[in-house]
Amino acid sequence: MSFAFRISHLEPEGAYQVLARSQALEAEGRQIIHLEIGEPDNETFDNIKAAGIRAIAEGKTRYTPPMGMKQLREVIAQQSSLRYQMAIDPDQVVVSPGAKPNLFFPALALIEPGDEVIYPNPGFPTYEAMIRVAGGIPVPVPLVEEKNFSFDLDAFRTLVNRKTKLVILNSPGNPTGGVMPLQDLEAIASIARNYNFWIMSDEIYSRIAYDDMDVPSMVTLPGMMERTIVVDGFSKTYAMTGWRLGYGIMPRELAHKVQLLLTHSVGSTANFVQIAGIEALTGPQDQVKAVIKEYQHRRDVMVDGLNAIPGFKCLRPQGAFYVFPNIRAFGLTSAELADLILEKANVALLPGSSFGKYGEGYLRLVYSNSITNIQMAIQQIGEAVNTLH
Ligand code: PLP
Repeated sequence: MSFAFRISHLEPEGAYQVLARSQALEAEGRQIIHLEIGEPDNETFDNIKAAGIRAIAEGKTRYTPPMGMKQLREVIAQQSSLRYQMAIDPDQVVVSPGAKPNLFFPALALIEPGDEVIYPNPGFPTYEAMIRVAGGIPVPVPLVEEKNFSFDLDAFRTLVNRKTKLVILNSPGNPTGGVMPLQDLEAIASIARNYNFWIMSDEIYSRIAYDDMDVPSMVTLPGMMERTIVVDGFSKTYAMTGWRLGYGIMPRELAHKVQLLLTHSVGSTANFVQIAGIEALTGPQDQVKAVIKEYQHRRDVMVDGLNAIPGFKCLRPQGAFYVFPNIRAFGLTSAELADLILEKANVALLPGSSFGKYGEGYLRLVYSNSITNIQMAIQQIGEAVNTLH
């Protein structure tokens, strides 16, 4: 069968491939610790579930406007205005089924064939996929360990040119957990104003940050709101990955175009899911705070445990729920070491290379898991790699 060129580069996400392999091992009776899938391990909070169930019972099961329900967009606009300390209008808010359509559709709306798009590498695999589907040229910018996995700004400056249409940022980042410091954002903003490119700021992990850190956002910098798309959502903060609810904040004209793409693709986001989203944002936030505090504890157990294993060198990330240890000392590729750890240690994790070429030499481990599982995983990894020295 032959398919359109625009999808010829699409590949499955590494996490799902590893999940399938580890499930095959489980079918043979092995007990696998799963540190490969990037989602919260807690269930959606009860008040949010109840709001969704109530909405279904009340018949909130019909189409809603493609851009999202007015009430939800108003709450998002109000809370974002407070958070970013700037006026954000509900007309700038586009609700979507998960955050992903708010990555894909603005990309489709902006990128012309041949336009260059700079994106973080190692990074979330959807970025490269959507750039290629839109006909753009993906230009990876290396994230550097020495800078807590922020951009290599010298490399970035050499990559920017008049063909650069869009630059993607993700802070805190998947797969590294790194947070981009304000001075890096300022440097990128000033280049964006000079070269007149757009910024897509994927902030899906911005509420999952440690030590009470306020993660800086590109949209707050002078002159940047008119050229920035903020992508955010409910999946990670409110443990709602399966509900599919996200949003974008962008200039009105672009929001209108994205609305048209939503109209003709998904139609609208589920009615009752949006009502559950209103409850998530306006209901009590103490559960979110408790989960983040717990993540911080798990991060520390994970980082300290890995650093105690000879050969691992692991930074302490400031956000998200991933660690991205350097494993170059083992002299294996990240895929070889990930395989060996799955086979010998019964721990499923991802090779850094599934996040792009600059991810080689690292592994990604998810610590949204119980302390018991994290400790057991570290012990089993330690025993398995012991033989490699
Ligand atoms: N952006 C990043 C960096 C992610 O890691 C993910 C999910 O893994 C998403 C976006 C997608 O979020 P959603 O499940 O809400 O579409």
